[in-house]
Amino acid sequence: MDFGFSPEQKTLAQAVTRFVERELLPGYHQRDKEKTFPRDVWKKLGELGLIGMGAPVEDGGHGADCVTEGIAAEAVGRGDPNIGVAAFAAAELCAQALLAGSGQAKSDFLAPMLRGDKVPAIAVTEPHCGTDAVAMRAKAVRKGERYLLSGEKSGITLAKAADFFVIFAKTDPAAGAAGVSAFAVPGDSPGLTRQFYEDMGSKTLCRGSIFLDDVEIPEAYRLGKEGKGFRTLMKGFDVSRVYLALLCLGAAVKSVEETIEYTKGRLAFQKPLAQFEGVSFTVVEHAAMLEAVRLLCYKALSLRDHGLPHTKEAAMVKWMGPRFSVDAIRDCLLLHGHYGYTQEYRFEQRLRDVMGLEIADGTAQICKIVAARELFGREWLKEGK
Ligand SMILES: Cc1cc2nc3c(=O)[nH]c(=O)nc-3n(C[C@H](O)[C@H](O)[C@H](O)COP(=O)(O)OP(=O)(O)OC[C@H]3O[C@@H](n4cnc5c(N)ncnc54)[C@H](O)[C@@H]3O)c2cc1C
Repeated sequence: MDFGFSPEQKTLAQAVTRFVERELLPGYHQRDKEKTFPRDVWKKLGELGLIGMGAPVEDGGHGADCVTEGIAAEAVGRGDPNIGVAAFAAAELCAQALLAGSGQAKSDFLAPMLRGDKVPAIAVTEPHCGTDAVAMRAKAVRKGERYLLSGEKSGITLAKAADFFVIFAKTDPAAGAAGVSAFAVPGDSPGLTRQFYEDMGSKTLCRGSIFLDDVEIPEAYRLGKEGKGFRTLMKGFDVSRVYLALLCLGAAVKSVEETIEYTKGRLAFQKPLAQFEGVSFTVVEHAAMLEAVRLLCYKALSLRDHGLPHTKEAAMVKWMGPRFSVDAIRDCLLLHGHYGYTQEYRFEQRLRDVMGLEIADGTAQICKIVAARELFGREWLKEGK
């Protein structure tokens, strides 16, 4: 068992951390106020190869292994988990789907996204269903060599900024999960309209709904075979969930580090706060939980890199990563006293942003359902057993 990263991975971690400290962290709060997705930052991420890092070199990616991509995600989370959500969740899930698509779909969407020229969004959730995604009602009806898409998708990260959407819709409504197909849809398609939300956090990602009124797309924009979309999505979740957890952990570990420094310098009762065990034990407990989840994240990514099952581990960290990070950030805010509650510090924003990731890509409950299926076996969890 080897707990160390390779020299190349350590170099990458240092380089990304430097970029994050210089370019992402200083504007984190301002982007929250502006509520627009920063295309200049997106372009820089593309130039640095930090978007969809695992995509093959021949498709415009860097062929990075998952552990390496996880290291980058964790580093980005320290500066701005929102930007990380775009690069390591939305773009990652879109890349996974686009890689199953035609050469035209890859050159029209994948390569420009990886360069930072196009902003992606992934559209699964609908107004009546999120956790039970198979219940989706959006339809794709074949019309010669084209498809007509209709329906409504809700809760979509980057709904406002996206240049294209990877949309999941039913080509065979009677077939359940086996009737779901994936499509790449340009954001300016006639018949596609958007509506935006006022969210509690992640304001720079401008979530919203999209409406599809007989949106016509060529067959070349179907991603993979008909009926294979849901499987592709689930395989994508098995890695994007780990990156999301690492983004949250990055933000939480940064908060813990800041709190250690603050409590060493702040005096109460003539002593530094850090000398009170009521303070230091709280910090230690969070540091321990975060490190434990972090190790499980890298185990999941290493299993994936070795082609071994990792669905259970990915589901577990998607529940624990955001949850324990929210708990840690909350206590870090409190240990800063009244200052922590102001917008001068980053804790309140981190709390709002990371909390949304307890829901995105699957809530704790669905992640526990997925992990239970793996632990108990699907057969044991069937109704009536
Ligand atoms: C910040 C953010 C970003 C998002 N980005 C995207 C995106 O880019 N694309 C996209 O398609 N969607 C996105 N979503 C939507 C997200 O995937 C869904 O909100 C999520 O899957 C939950 O679905 P729901 O909101 O419909 O809740 P529901 O499915 O209605 O569930 C409501 C509650 O009931 C619980 N529940 C449901 N079923 C069970 C069960 N069997 N047992 C126990 N508890 C259960 C859930 O855990 C939840 O707490 C985003 C959401 C957020 C908050």
